[in-house]
Amino acid sequence: MAKASIAAPTDHPSTDYQTSHVFDELGMERDPDNLYLQITDSVLQAAEILELPHHLQLILAQPKNELMVHFPVRMNDGDFQLFKGYRVQHNNILGPYKGGVRFHPNVHLDDVKALATLMTMKCSLVRVPYGGAKGGCKVDPHGIDHDELMRVSRRFVTAISNIIGPDQDIPAPDVGTNAQIMAWFADTYMNIAGSARHESLRVVTGKPLEMGGSVGREKATGQGMVDVLVELLPDMGIPIEGARISLLGYGNVGSWAGRLIAEKGAKVVAVMDHTGAIRNDEGIDTGLLAEHCAETGGVAGFGASHGATHTGQHTQAGAQAIGEEEFYRTPVDVFIPAALEQMIDEEKASWIDCKVVAEAANAPTTPQGERLLQRQGIEVLPAILCNAGGVTVSYFEWVQNKTSVTWDLERVDRELNKHMVLAARRTSVAKHRYDCDMRTASYIAALDQIGKVYSMRGIFP
Ligand code: NAD
Repeated sequence: MAKASIAAPTDHPSTDYQTSHVFDELGMERDPDNLYLQITDSVLQAAEILELPHHLQLILAQPKNELMVHFPVRMNDGDFQLFKGYRVQHNNILGPYKGGVRFHPNVHLDDVKALATLMTMKCSLVRVPYGGAKGGCKVDPHGIDHDELMRVSRRFVTAISNIIGPDQDIPAPDVGTNAQIMAWFADTYMNIAGSARHESLRVVTGKPLEMGGSVGREKATGQGMVDVLVELLPDMGIPIEGARISLLGYGNVGSWAGRLIAEKGAKVVAVMDHTGAIRNDEGIDTGLLAEHCAETGGVAGFGASHGATHTGQHTQAGAQAIGEEEFYRTPVDVFIPAALEQMIDEEKASWIDCKVVAEAANAPTTPQGERLLQRQGIEVLPAILCNAGGVTVSYFEWVQNKTSVTWDLERVDRELNKHMVLAARRTSVAKHRYDCDMRTASYIAALDQIGKVYSMRGIFP
């Protein structure tokens, strides 16, 4: 059996969708619209290139544990409502399971499995000593009030409490959850965990600062994305100074990436979120836009309230309202999807006019969309590299809790930059060594580490 190593390039397998023999061996379906199967197939293709031993491919094709829970919560009107939740633990060869919890009405088990798989790859790529996990609860956090949300959060964490722990599985925020919900998670776990009450605080990361959170966590994912772009763009012939950027999504990740890349001299020329799209070829004022979104809930209305006209004459601060297709077609150097999964399908990919797509969101590109981008010669920088800043600073938070030492922002930013730059270089090295795209290269660089640790530890017993 071949030994896992990034030393020797091999012939590439077919890039057709879902070609791995592992799918047949495990009796897995071949459904091109299933996110979990898409991601597993890409990981297995990279594993084939790396000649990762077959038994490791089998192990990585399925999560180790999948927990589904149902729990009742008394709502404010006195009635009980039943909620469904999941915690998926994909792999823990490198350390405790780690991954966010999503609160969203459309959470499905296979999506949670897909995101857990990506966490295993991401933690390995940036070399933080964690495995991969993800959780979800079918709930609309904006459709219930504060007290109901607190009761759902506490019951969810109670339902999964047997499989999480500060050295076992460490949740964090994701779409629909935030620092307040992490505070409820931590408090609930500390109350039911029994011994080592204060040790239990680090059962979650992304906590409020006052409760053991880390400085720099809020902006970490956007910051990490910018660290990667500063490292990689010049080698692609795109100087940061003056680079034209568009952002799909202006929430936590998108707005921080926008503000921080603008500080480096790039121009954010188009932004779209769930409320609308705006454009200013002279560069949108990203700080003002963040304030506008905080006040109004989205980018819509930014032009009107900031002096732009709708006649094509843009002002520095304002912007012009545009339609969805014009947003995608706006010519830029870097297009950053920072909203939801699977938004860039074949049609959107045919509209996008850029040199590089830098994935801030998880799995924002469908396989069909990605193939079209590649045919157009557009480089796709993968999510497990671009958005790894969040889990990296989560790791710093966990280390600070474990050692009772508080880091300052300068140290957090410096250490984050080191992890991101090394992960970007690792990916570039694998790309050149194996003559493959950046996504495959990022999986190869992640799997190389996992393969080496498995080969040292062996399989128990
Ligand atoms: P967020 O909820 O703060 O922001 C989401 C953004 O997407 C908002 O601007 C929203 O308007 C926009 N959006 C939603 N639906 C849209 C639609 N149909 N069309 C256009 N825009 C739409 O979420 P976030 O924390 O910024 O996360 C964004 C992505 O990054 C997610 O995929 C998340 O999993 C991923 N991610 C986040 C972090 C983190 O630290 N927050 C870390 C890693 C990955």
